Amino acid sequence: MSDDGQRDVPSDRQWHAVPVSELLRRSRVDRTIGLDGEEVTRRRERYGPNTLPVAGGQGVLRRAARQFHHPLVYVLVAAGAVTAVLEELVDAAVILAVVLLNAIIGFTQESKAEAALAGLRSMARTDARVRRDGREQRIPSEDIVPGDVVLLAAGDKVPADLRLLELTELRTDESALTGESLPVLKDPTELPVTTAPADRRNMAYSGTLVTGGTATGVAVATGAGTELGQIHRLVSAAEVLATPLTRQLAKVSKILMIVILVLAAVTFAVGLARGQDAVDTFTAAVALAVGAIPEGLPAAVTITLAVGVTRMARRRAIIRRLPAIETLGSTTVICSDKTGTLTENQMTVRRVWTPVGGYTVTGAGYAPDGALHDETGSPVTRADDHALRWTLTAGALCNDARLRRVDDRWVLVGDPTEGAMRVTPGKAGIDLDHVDREHQRLATIPFSSERQYMATLHRDLAGGGTITMVKGSVEKVLALAEHQMGSDGSVHPVDRVAFHTAAERLAAEGLRVLATAVDLRQDPGTFDEQNLSGLVVTGLQAMLDPPRPAAAPAVAACRTAGITVKMITGDHATTAVAIATQLGLLDADDDRPRRVLTGTDLDALPAAEFTTAADDSTVFARVSPEQKLRLITALQHHGHVVAVTGDGVNDAPALRQADIGIAMARTGTDVAKEAADMILTDDDFATIEAAVEQGRGVFDNLTKFIVWTLPTNLGQGLLILSAILVGADLPLLPTQILWINMTTAVLLGLTLAFEPQEPGIMRRPPRDPARPIITGALTIRILLVATLLVAGSWWMFQWEQDRGASLAEARTAALNLFVVVSAAYLVACRSLTRPVRRLGLLTNPWVPLGIAAQAAGQLAITYLPTANAVFDTAPLTPEAWLRIAALAALAAAVVALDNRLRRHRLTAGSGRTRSNRDSRNPRPTPP
Ligand code: ADP
Ligand code: MG
Repeated sequence: MSDDGQRDVPSDRQWHAVPVSELLRRSRVDRTIGLDGEEVTRRRERYGPNTLPVAGGQGVLRRAARQFHHPLVYVLVAAGAVTAVLEELVDAAVILAVVLLNAIIGFTQESKAEAALAGLRSMARTDARVRRDGREQRIPSEDIVPGDVVLLAAGDKVPADLRLLELTELRTDESALTGESLPVLKDPTELPVTTAPADRRNMAYSGTLVTGGTATGVAVATGAGTELGQIHRLVSAAEVLATPLTRQLAKVSKILMIVILVLAAVTFAVGLARGQDAVDTFTAAVALAVGAIPEGLPAAVTITLAVGVTRMARRRAIIRRLPAIETLGSTTVICSDKTGTLTENQMTVRRVWTPVGGYTVTGAGYAPDGALHDETGSPVTRADDHALRWTLTAGALCNDARLRRVDDRWVLVGDPTEGAMRVTPGKAGIDLDHVDREHQRLATIPFSSERQYMATLHRDLAGGGTITMVKGSVEKVLALAEHQMGSDGSVHPVDRVAFHTAAERLAAEGLRVLATAVDLRQDPGTFDEQNLSGLVVTGLQAMLDPPRPAAAPAVAACRTAGITVKMITGDHATTAVAIATQLGLLDADDDRPRRVLTGTDLDALPAAEFTTAADDSTVFARVSPEQKLRLITALQHHGHVVAVTGDGVNDAPALRQADIGIAMARTGTDVAKEAADMILTDDDFATIEAAVEQGRGVFDNLTKFIVWTLPTNLGQGLLILSAILVGADLPLLPTQILWINMTTAVLLGLTLAFEPQEPGIMRRPPRDPARPIITGALTIRILLVATLLVAGSWWMFQWEQDRGASLAEARTAALNLFVVVSAAYLVACRSLTRPVRRLGLLTNPWVPLGIAAQAAGQLAITYLPTANAVFDTAPLTPEAWLRIAALAALAAAVVALDNRLRRHRLTAGSGRTRSNRDSRNPRPTPP
């Protein structure tokens, strides 16, 4: 074989027309065994990883270029050029240095933010199921090589281009490839060579989504060789770092900039008309423009968001779409799944029930240790009772889960509900391997949340003929049944009341109850959904799925934070209520008439009452994905900001509709993850609560930065404007303004992005998204501080001159005062709600570090001879520093006073009440 080592897999793209035997021969793979480990390594080396190349070097250049594509840079460059023409060469050099520095800072910050996001993308990578070495395995999609036998199930993302070998009702959503979102029904038959790519039904393409059915296929192309790879030669590395808020801020800064530029032009004209020196007036106009434009704002916002994203990832919440961070802070309702999110999703069958008797099951987890005890307490060793035997075998055979021993642990591949039912037969002395061999599976109707059951058709080796086995919700299975089984295998009319009563009793203990049924008739007709009826129901299995330990405290924390938690589940109402009560979602003595609604109740509600019912009720049981979508729309119509969890294929519309769609990394399907804004790596409800907390923190920090930066910019602008208007000497020169601008934004302002959340953050009500980030109270604060900065600098400037200081010395004093006040104000901005002394000095070590660095810079610009020459500064006397300190202390006192008087009104999150929620822009009525 080594001679055709060059051609393991043909390179032509006519896979749809190759006969399967030929395909397997050329791929050199056995469909029942798959590739072996060595062969995989060899092909992996040869074909590389199954990933699309990411835009690399070129992106870096473009990103660097983008740093210069900014109107402010144009202004600066023009100013630099004019300054150079006027032969102020040092000034020109300073201006150009600032342009460069600005670009470098912007570039590194943006790179860091993007690296953080890229890291997240790799955390959110997908897994695939393959057959290798004769075993089914779960591997990262990245590791698939051509020739791999790949298994697909509903909810998967197709990991490579596959030629399909066999399938049951496989449907895929190929919109990623074709833009067409109608599902495509697949068919494994060989096709003519001339078949158009879109009609190649026997192929499944990388990047498309499996919306239903199952299939097995052989990977024929991976990575850049796939159809998707052909279309997208490069995945753009840059996830857009934009959210509604950043866009809003960008717009505001643009308007601000235009206003300021106009103002600067007017200033220049007025100065000239007054007969002032043209060069001085020009520099003043430039200083005004540079000082007043908050050019650091967009970058700071991006960085704050990036810091938030990384912090959330550390708390196991991966943000897929950046705007989610902002929305998280405003969440008013969380609609959570029960199974797996509020509970552990570690099922253990605890009870088995047949019309003949009840059994308790011992042992925990997926290990086969434990036993079945009947009502007298004696263990069942042979399961002679037919009803019991069929209940256990149908549960285990109508089942896609497999348990495997790894070292001394048992690991589950598949759905925990099914895994639990693979364990029970062994505990009752049934040899499951033998039963598996005797009943080869011929066909499957897979489980789906709408269907609420799964059915399989088996060949009966011992008895000849076929057997249908069904497991599912009690209601569904009973609806399909006509008979029940006696202990001797005889068949009687079904006693539905007995089954329902037993199921209800088990559910009241919080157990998840499934019923099993069989069809042993010789000729039951074709095996499909329409023909499934007249079954013989055999019994019930009830499993325990304990609530997650962190869930109850998280529910309580949400309640204090003004967030309502609702449970939306496909499970039985009684089970749901039992779990909800354990978690504190429902109070045991809560007797509201509509606290629990089932899917049937929802359908029976008049449309007019639906919205209020959605708002009033806490537990929604036996809810279908469509009803879930309706519930979410209704809640949103009520003015809620809704976070929703989902895991199945059919949850995708609800996840998209939600303000924040949340998917589960472990149990969620790829389809759900693609639709989600956020992914929980631990599937835990408590992580949602943590993410909301983080989201609020990020928003707080954004507000803090804005509240800090706007007064400094405003102050710089006003300072220059007032100087020109009174026709006095400028208290700060343009280069000095540039210095303040560049150093304080980075060394001081940015440290606020790392501010930890404030302790009381989850005791505030959610932020109303319609509320502007800069409220009236904050506007007053901003104006106050700007005034303090302007007045202080002027005073300092005059004071020093009156004492006979040189112009350079007076300016240096004004410059230092400005910076010292900004630093003091920075400390005040660390919290919008509490006095700074209660925050602790080292809770954000970046602040003291930044202030120390800034202080070093100030000493340098004041005392270094070169700096004196470049920035026209001069050394200060110790007395001058004392005066600066005194004035700064005065300013700080005023801010502290303002804080004390109006603190409660500065809170970022306050002011969300029921009434303003209801009145703000209602959304379109739900269908
Ligand atoms: P949830 O995940 O919210 O508990 P599901 O939609 O997964 O709800 O399940 C709804 C009902 O369908 C369950 O209460 C159970 O009776 C039944 N069911 C769940 N999983 C399976 C399965 N794998 N096979 C058959 N029936 C199932
Ligand atoms: Mg489920």
